[in-house]
Amino acid sequence: MLTRSDCLDRDAGDPLAPLRELFDLPAGVIYLDGNSLGARPKAALTRATAVIAQEWGKDLITSWNSAGWFQMPRRLGDLLAPLVGAEASEVVVTDTTSVNLFKALAGALQLQAGDAQRKVIVTERSNFPTDIYMAQGLASWLDRGYQLRLVDTPEEIPGALGADTAVLMLTHVNYRSGYQHDMAALSALARQHGAVTVWDLAHSAGAVPVDLNRDGADFAIGCTYKYLNGGPGAPAFIWVPQRHQAQFRQPLSGWWGHAAPFAMAPHFAPTDGIGRALCGTQPIVSLAMVECGLEIFAQTSMAAIREKSLALTDLFIALVEARCAGHPLELVTPREHARRGSQVSFAHPHGYAVMAALIARGVIGDYREPHIMRFGFTPLYTSFADVWDAVEILKQILDNKAYDIAAERGAVT
Ligand SMILES: *Cc1c(COP(=O)(O)O)cnc(C)c1O
Repeated sequence: MLTRSDCLDRDAGDPLAPLRELFDLPAGVIYLDGNSLGARPKAALTRATAVIAQEWGKDLITSWNSAGWFQMPRRLGDLLAPLVGAEASEVVVTDTTSVNLFKALAGALQLQAGDAQRKVIVTERSNFPTDIYMAQGLASWLDRGYQLRLVDTPEEIPGALGADTAVLMLTHVNYRSGYQHDMAALSALARQHGAVTVWDLAHSAGAVPVDLNRDGADFAIGCTYKYLNGGPGAPAFIWVPQRHQAQFRQPLSGWWGHAAPFAMAPHFAPTDGIGRALCGTQPIVSLAMVECGLEIFAQTSMAAIREKSLALTDLFIALVEARCAGHPLELVTPREHARRGSQVSFAHPHGYAVMAALIARGVIGDYREPHIMRFGFTPLYTSFADVWDAVEILKQILDNKAYDIAAERGAVT
């Protein structure tokens, strides 16, 4: 049987262990929620001070040029690109994940507009709700007969694609279960049916290796405030591959996507390339923080991150199943490595109350309906000893029934 000292030995031999020093995490906290809000890179405080005190405070409006504010969505996109298998000039960091999904989906529907038969957007009922809501909103506003087809399991996806399908819109790693789709196989299948794919990488970017170009994806979007540690509400990203850029049109045709924004012309003419995915002025202070997270990824590789991520999630599953045996815990996340993201979800009938008790004891995960306790594993700052200690605290809470099933819920779970 594994012991805590085995976990300490694994930490001693972990090549990523030194990167934990680059994050500011409070003492006494085991942070297993980097899948929802990444921890703060220490460098973010220095960078925020520089942006606010110098660039904004002293240099004022000249910073649009002198501090590179105007170019920042593109420059950060280029830094992010290698993490998702994109080329330079294929990604911009901008707007929110929901808004980028709207733009990517609109662009995908536009590509398909020549075929009047293709009116269906296929996605999963278990997709993150905003993705479904944005698609519903776009479809209803377009008022051209577009409709959503929601499938209940990944196995139903092939049967849901056909000559009527415009877009297959999937979240690569499911936010609740941690299930990871086979991007290459599903993109190929969609293409055989004449459908275009839109991938949401909210729980993939910085969490699992992604190779959009190799795997033949058509469009992608994702979050920077989760595994990429960009800070609360940090702008998201959108990927449009070079092969689609010339045809790409999206309805939020703001001045940042114009060929000559400062010509102040009364008609919209999209710029060439990825810039046409932009809309308007960005929250520069927040955008600047994204770089601090990306700089840390530049010190390692997604292969090394994936190797440790699987070791952490395997260990967590094994320890929970061994040490908390007899409690009504049900593993929701796939055991198969290829199908697993970088989180582990366990259902428990009192999942909300157990998670509240864990958080009160410094083990921060989160809760998602129905009954699911979600634990995110972030190899940049989670240690093997953290995993041991988190399971020990979970075991104590369950053994002693030290949770309050009548606890009030906050607005955010
Ligand atoms: C986190 C997440 C989002 C968040 O969207 P926002 O616009 O940032 O609120 C969207 N989609 C998925 C799949 C997510 O996991």
